[in-house]
Amino acid sequence: MHYESTRGGLKSLESAEAIKRGLAPDGGLFVPDARVEMTLDDINKLVEMSYQDRAVYILKKYLTDYSDQEITDCVYNAYTTEKFGDDRIAPVYRLNENVHVLELWHGPTCAFKDMALQILPHFLVKAVRKTGETSEIVILVATSGDTGKAALEGFKDVGGTEIIVFFPNKGVSEVQKYQMVTQEGNNVHSIAVEGNFDDAQNGVKEIFTDSGLAEKLESANYKFSSANSINWGRLVPQIVYYFSAYADLVKNGEIQLGEKINFVVPTGNFGNILAAYYAMEMGLPVNKLICASNDNNVLTDFIETGVYDRNRDFKKTISPSMDILISSNLERLLYEVTDRNTWLINEWMEKLKFDGKYSVDPVTKKKISGVFWAGYSNENETMKTIEAIFKEYKYVIDTHTAVAVDVYDKYVISTGDITKTVIVSTASPFKFNESVVKSIFGNDSVKGKSEFQLLDVLADKCGLSIPVGLKDLDKKPVKHNAICEKSDMKNIVKGILNV
Ligand SMILES: *Cc1c(COP(=O)(O)O)cnc(C)c1O
Repeated sequence: MHYESTRGGLKSLESAEAIKRGLAPDGGLFVPDARVEMTLDDINKLVEMSYQDRAVYILKKYLTDYSDQEITDCVYNAYTTEKFGDDRIAPVYRLNENVHVLELWHGPTCAFKDMALQILPHFLVKAVRKTGETSEIVILVATSGDTGKAALEGFKDVGGTEIIVFFPNKGVSEVQKYQMVTQEGNNVHSIAVEGNFDDAQNGVKEIFTDSGLAEKLESANYKFSSANSINWGRLVPQIVYYFSAYADLVKNGEIQLGEKINFVVPTGNFGNILAAYYAMEMGLPVNKLICASNDNNVLTDFIETGVYDRNRDFKKTISPSMDILISSNLERLLYEVTDRNTWLINEWMEKLKFDGKYSVDPVTKKKISGVFWAGYSNENETMKTIEAIFKEYKYVIDTHTAVAVDVYDKYVISTGDITKTVIVSTASPFKFNESVVKSIFGNDSVKGKSEFQLLDVLADKCGLSIPVGLKDLDKKPVKHNAICEKSDMKNIVKGILNV
């Protein structure tokens, strides 16, 4: 198995090289050059396995240049009961006969990013060794909240790496900010930027592409890499939990082996749902993949019309991790559904860059709508859904998961489809506690209370315990208090690396 760029510029790379580079030099994303097959027999074997063994089984098929022992080491170091607080790692919760919830937020930072960012550093350290790389790897991250903390936690004290995270000073929640500024570890740096997420992201992109800086880094023996979901090493671990959820449903007698199911995925950068698509292409019995968006509903429009148009207002919502107008990983889907037509991909991505808009041909559109159904949930609907699910099931969901549940309801009303369905739950309700408490208990219940006080309110009123990663967060010492102007980001990086 080798990897190639979606824009045709690079072919036949080993997975270690693709993971180390993150992004292809032609601006494309790395994709596997062959289809991986999972038969029903293979899936049946997963049924009696632990999450870790399921992961080894599937990852081996993609990371063919890693030895079995290397993959086993990565998996067993990443997915521990200690870090995930649950030996099932990604448990499936039965809401009712038809609907199950795949809980992906038991990791140390309480969001699904941990599923990939706990293992990526292990892949990367081995990739560095396997490719004979002698430089120290500097991970640069711009975050709107969840990725930054998950990356800091994943890379902390990982030898041969240094991690620098930039977050918008006023663009993240109190909980998210405290998670980052109290981060422990000897190789971690988190810096607030005076600006919004786009400013942070643009600053990081400029640093990445600054050739003068790259030269300085090289002579100081450093190299940049990325922990964003464009990195194949972040995407591939996400395929595992779709198979794992299916195997659990078979194990619990909820479905027959071979029976098709739906997945509903709250979507931003299209990374999570793309992993579901790969799982389906490998042979996982899937009926529909339901793409759920918030008010930033670019993807809903795209899947319905075939026109991708980012020329619209960016809306700040209560599901901030999905506030995004350019879903980078869509490029990988387009590559697959056009039978790897790099010429088309280049054309569309150029149009996106210069006009903020492109439209796909009718054949491509039809292929996409054959697999995906799309919908979106507005702010009011999202809050109503949190309340309704709590009232009916005494089950508490976060805002992102609520978007998925609401879009699923719309799907059922629109199609009448009663296929068994898994809702992908991407964050702990404690992480977005203010919106959750307000949705269930009304405006007065949050008045005058900080997000840290609301952790206790949510725990008390709903009979839940506060996740370890969030407990007493406000009492931890602040270790990172740097705030910088957007124009100063490069100097900050130079200062940290002493170049
Ligand atoms: C990142 C994130 C998403 C969006 O996932 P994508 O892979 O970017 O589509 C959804 N929910 C939460 C809580 C997230 O952190």
